[in-house]
Amino acid sequence: MKGMKQPLILEIKGNSLDDGPGIRSVVFFKGCPLSCVWCHNPESKKTVTEISFSARDCIGCETCLKVCKKQALSKSNPHYIDRDKCDLCFECVEVCPAKALTRVGKEMTVDEIINRVASDKPFYNVSGGGVTLSGGEATLFPEFVGELLKRLKENEINTLVETCGQFNFEDFKKHILPFTDMIYYDLKLFDSRLHKKYCGTTNENILENFEKLFRLSQKGDFILLPRTPLIPNITDTDENLISIADFLKNLGVKRSELLSYNPTWFEKNQKLGILVDEEISETEKWQAQEKIAHCEKIYTDRGIKVRQE
Ligand code: SF4
Ligand code: SF4
Repeated sequence: MKGMKQPLILEIKGNSLDDGPGIRSVVFFKGCPLSCVWCHNPESKKTVTEISFSARDCIGCETCLKVCKKQALSKSNPHYIDRDKCDLCFECVEVCPAKALTRVGKEMTVDEIINRVASDKPFYNVSGGGVTLSGGEATLFPEFVGELLKRLKENEINTLVETCGQFNFEDFKKHILPFTDMIYYDLKLFDSRLHKKYCGTTNENILENFEKLFRLSQKGDFILLPRTPLIPNITDTDENLISIADFLKNLGVKRSELLSYNPTWFEKNQKLGILVDEEISETEKWQAQEKIAHCEKIYTDRGIKVRQE
């Protein structure tokens, strides 16, 4: 489609059991309008191509040091790559024998994505699965995503869109909604001031979009599932969860999901040379089952069934 905003794709993951019902392929889009401090996909934040370095995979052969014309690589640099010097020529990526240096994000056409995911249709059919669009934020590219979803539906493949809710509602309704079977919708922080502090934007648009979508979902054409990630001392506070659960209850929402905290985001940020606030990095541990049960009770006390992922 002419003039369509072209996304970068981070990865297409097959045989996923964690991104919706059944066996699914997951298409990860690069770029997100939020910048959550705990993001477990930090490579998906920017819409542009990046370079990633994994200290764990590096075998210290120094091949990359010899090819870099910008002298951007140095063992004495704790992040290994000086991103101010690097011009993203990716010559080091080409020669790295251990794949410790990798290019993050590549252009793919709708046809290329369909070719990759449609071959797994038999697995989707036997398991009640399909294709999930994740990120990053797929809704940043409404026309491209709409075209992709349309093609998936033409192939009789179930579609699920994961979203942070920060989108233009009319674009979403026009391009994406007609071809979407399920929407997983993140509600992270109810207090707009805290949302701005920890996610980079205020949340009025996100809450408004959720309300509009919930009303439309009552016709039964698609399933809308709100989800809240449980981030220690940020989103898992009683105050936040009570506010979100009350908001959902008042709308008439009967089901929600709580996502347990994944501390692996910290290492991923290091690979991309992203500095992490010390206050946040201290939350680097898995959550206790008692804490998760306490969070669930806040929802169930309000008549909302909770599924934990
Ligand atoms: S991408 Fe190019 S400039 Fe950047 S570190 Fe690698 S070789 Fe050097
Ligand atoms: S080429 Fe790869 S494995 Fe060798 S030193 Fe560079 S990053 Fe490490």
